Amino acid sequence: MRIADAGMVVTGLCRGGYLVHGDATQRDAILDDNRRAIDEANALGAPALCFVVGGLPPGSRDLRAGRAQIVEVLSRLAEHSAGSGVRLGVEPLHPMYAADRSCISTLASALDVCDAVGGDIGVIVDTYHVWWDPDLDAGLQRAGAARLLGWHLADWRVPTRDLLMDRAMLGEGVIDFAAIERMVRAAGWTGLSEVEIFSDEWNARDPSDTLAVLASNYQALD
Ligand code: ZN
Repeated sequence: MRIADAGMVVTGLCRGGYLVHGDATQRDAILDDNRRAIDEANALGAPALCFVVGGLPPGSRDLRAGRAQIVEVLSRLAEHSAGSGVRLGVEPLHPMYAADRSCISTLASALDVCDAVGGDIGVIVDTYHVWWDPDLDAGLQRAGAARLLGWHLADWRVPTRDLLMDRAMLGEGVIDFAAIERMVRAAGWTGLSEVEIFSDEWNARDPSDTLAVLASNYQALD
């Protein structure tokens, strides 16, 4: 495989998801789509498939119904991934996305989904989404090494200018990475760190320049 030949590893595939639906036809299409994503992750050798689970069901104001649908669909998908080498990872998203991207907003609620689904499912922790959570440490401890499937890093700009494409370079926002990383490592995470800066500003810059700034800032975080 070209990735392995280049001396690289795939830490995870991002993403499956948008599991909420308005009817059974939509649900079945979502199941098919996500089964293909699991197969793609398997082909890539990715140990985890990251899920952005979706917000409100179409035409609905019922977040609880959305969460119930997510448990139901993930349970079906877990049957497909069982034995494949790919684990399903639920990524809680910042609550500003609750309506349109993820009605799972906290690590605790993501772990509640894992408990309800059962089987070989876990969580993806992204600093951008969970840095504000007063129960973050407790959630990480509850997840433990067995259910921590990914570790994403991006900083929070103040003020945020765009809800999706204004993540900040590490060290240029307000997140205390050193403190959160200590919690993540103490909870048992031993994998690689994935930097995930969705940003129109950084997308417009030379990638080698971005990488140099990232390396420098990352080393200065401790
Ligand atoms: Zn992420």
